[in-house]
Amino acid sequence: MKGCRRRLTRGSDSKMPAGKGSETLQVHRMLPRVKTLGPGLRLALWVQGCFRRCPGCITPDSRPLDGGRQQTVSEIAAAFLREPGHEGITISGGEPFLQAGALCRLIDLIREQRDCGVIVYTGYTLEELQESGAPADAAELLRRTDLLIDGPYIRELNDDASLRGSSNQRVICLTERYRNDIGLYGVKDRRDIEIRWTQDGLFIAGIPSKTTVRLQLPERDET
Ligand code: SF4
Repeated sequence: MKGCRRRLTRGSDSKMPAGKGSETLQVHRMLPRVKTLGPGLRLALWVQGCFRRCPGCITPDSRPLDGGRQQTVSEIAAAFLREPGHEGITISGGEPFLQAGALCRLIDLIREQRDCGVIVYTGYTLEELQESGAPADAAELLRRTDLLIDGPYIRELNDDASLRGSSNQRVICLTERYRNDIGLYGVKDRRDIEIRWTQDGLFIAGIPSKTTVRLQLPERDET
């Protein structure tokens, strides 16, 4: 998509998400026990902040660099560890590679305690992340990632296939962990979503179909 391919590196830009230290992350949203963002039960983490403006982005609220909330990596690791059924974590956004250092710290903290598969959705291509101008700590985060879904969302290439937004996005095994699960990705006309109540109201986890109708649901009863 024109406009989505421009070079988007962090460099020394000061307009980064506030949680840029290695012990904190700027988080858009976090949901435990998600079943629609990869194999098994997953902690889903949407980080805050993205420089891109992909037309049709399904998480526009995650783009402002100063949005979301700051959370320590220890708090997020604890949320993962509290649920014994979590197979792994799916990290999306926003743009995860703008906070690669803190995400590495998070993954290390979790893996010190328990096995954890890591799936990352990024607007960068793998090649961009391997170039010399890649965001800081990109190589480190790639080293910790089992499955990478790469490239920006391109509305015209949205083919309603499962677990990715558009057909330009590649599903890349960086380790063998999810090699046998690759068949779950890119299945035509198969988009699963979960609708969950959160502190901020209803939230959809998963990649909705392009024909998904916006639901008008009643206010939550306060009890
Ligand atoms: S890369 Fe993702 S979060 Fe950023 S604008 Fe594109 S679709 Fe939205």
